[in-house]
Amino acid sequence: MQRLELARETVRRFNHRFSGEGKNKRPVFVEPKPRLSPSPRIMGTDGLTKMSKSKGNTIEVFDEPKVFWDKLKRAYTDPQRQKLSDPGRPEICNIFTMHKAMSSKETQDEVVANCTSAKWGCVDCKKVLFDNFEKELIPLRAKRAALSMDEVRQMLGDGASKARPLAVETMKEVRAAMGLGSLAT
Ligand code: SF4
Repeated sequence: MQRLELARETVRRFNHRFSGEGKNKRPVFVEPKPRLSPSPRIMGTDGLTKMSKSKGNTIEVFDEPKVFWDKLKRAYTDPQRQKLSDPGRPEICNIFTMHKAMSSKETQDEVVANCTSAKWGCVDCKKVLFDNFEKELIPLRAKRAALSMDEVRQMLGDGASKARPLAVETMKEVRAAMGLGSLAT
């Protein structure tokens, strides 16, 4: 989001300066807008800050399932749930934020009902989440294992080849808008 905001600010300034005058005014670039998922901010397993390797609070997508579960099992939840019989507050719980990204609406409703009535403990809730992670990750792990480094390099090269002509076109627009006609080709 910070990088996107920087891009938006750059577009605004550029458009303000180089979009022409009066009837000819036409924004050169469109401001990029964020496209956020229902879980735009997932905190680290400590529940304090965003995931960061240096803080040791990450769960990595390609962690082995046992490692993944060990980390998830120990992850921070609602601190008010001291005992199993204490009702929880999914709305402030990082695990529920992950459910919003990984679980169906029905499961999310089930989590809310079972958390707020203390029918589930946090480990029950995390097990359901883990199973839903696994449904997504099993095929991804297989796909990853099947890829060779040569294929990955090839894909990166293909991506760069697609991006290059787009960047050239964009720079033409930039130079034309700035009146650097002779450099606009
Ligand atoms: S039951 Fe789930 S949503 Fe509720 S506090 Fe525990 S981990 Fe969070």
